[in-house]
Amino acid sequence: MARKRLVILGATGSIGASTLRVVAAHPDRFEVVGLAAGRDAEGLQALAAQFQVKHLALAAPNKCGIPSGEAALCALASLEEADLVVMAIAGMAGYAPTLAAIDAGKDVALATKEVLVMAGTEVMRRRQERGVRLLPLDSEHSALFQCLQSTASEPACVRIGHEAKAEERVAEVILTASGGPFFRRETIDWSRITVAEALNHPRWEMGPKVTIDSATMMNKGLEMIEALHLFALDPSQLRVWVHPQSIVHSFVHFKDGALLAQLAQPDMALPIQYALTWPDRAFHAPVPPMTLAQMQNLEFSEPDLERFPCLKLVFEALPMGAWTHPILTLANEVAVKAFLSERITADKIAAVIEQGLTRAETDFDAIVRYAEEDVARFERAAPGGARCCS
Ligand code: MG
Repeated sequence: MARKRLVILGATGSIGASTLRVVAAHPDRFEVVGLAAGRDAEGLQALAAQFQVKHLALAAPNKCGIPSGEAALCALASLEEADLVVMAIAGMAGYAPTLAAIDAGKDVALATKEVLVMAGTEVMRRRQERGVRLLPLDSEHSALFQCLQSTASEPACVRIGHEAKAEERVAEVILTASGGPFFRRETIDWSRITVAEALNHPRWEMGPKVTIDSATMMNKGLEMIEALHLFALDPSQLRVWVHPQSIVHSFVHFKDGALLAQLAQPDMALPIQYALTWPDRAFHAPVPPMTLAQMQNLEFSEPDLERFPCLKLVFEALPMGAWTHPILTLANEVAVKAFLSERITADKIAAVIEQGLTRAETDFDAIVRYAEEDVARFERAAPGGARCCS
């Protein structure tokens, strides 16, 4: 069997590291032909030496002679000899390279949420046109993807040659959420939550932006949008259940009454490995097997939307249409950055998003500008922001 040739963008980040761990465990199945990172030239060169990779790219200019900038990333993403592009560049910087890979006819394993959340309609249209498969890397979406493959029709993200249509056999998909660090608190006063508290996530090791999104449960809201696009769902088919153990990665409730789920240790290596080996499964597990003891105390509950106003806003906004998607993500991004630098308190994150939705702006730059104005207004009204409470 010929080895699958991979290009990995975002190679020096945590998804990149997990991907390379999977590659290293299967030298007979995978070969890395291209690697890209943001600015860590030395880290990238070390990986290139370890995996014997010729083609490199960096987002930032560098003194090592590595091609840099968006054009270099796009060229790497459309590399002639690649079979599959792993897209793990954080944020909208992943958008152009993802489109480049799709236009070059490369299948894409996608970790970068923003690409679908901001531009899912366009990405899914081009994917369809080019006959390219989009394989989800996010643990919840990988779980849904695995469950959805139990019917005769393929999940929308890999369906070739048909119109993408709503999943007719699905009653609802249930995204599970850990609930973040505040879920068990009796009362959550968002105006008094400190940055340090919000960054202390009980289950997953992640970057600061995602960790705050997890604390406010906005992360689950963004994942709902991702699921809408990947699986051609309707907002009315989306549910969220809080599941603090993070063992069940998501459920699909079919109309025939079956409830399917995917369970595994919470470790990104497994969803990554599944995307790389799809449509097959590997013979080795990158994580320890589930134990009977772990199965004894799995808990599930409905999220209380009054306690998590960001998630409530997502549930309210999605039925209004896809125009709400960029507002939800960009206004949130601006507000979270302001919270992390202690300019505003955590309760203002939802307030900034809500303001953005009332304006119904569709231009990305304008959405960001308005959100920054809202942040500045909240900051003026309460100088010192989050520092006053710590
Ligand atoms: Mg996730």
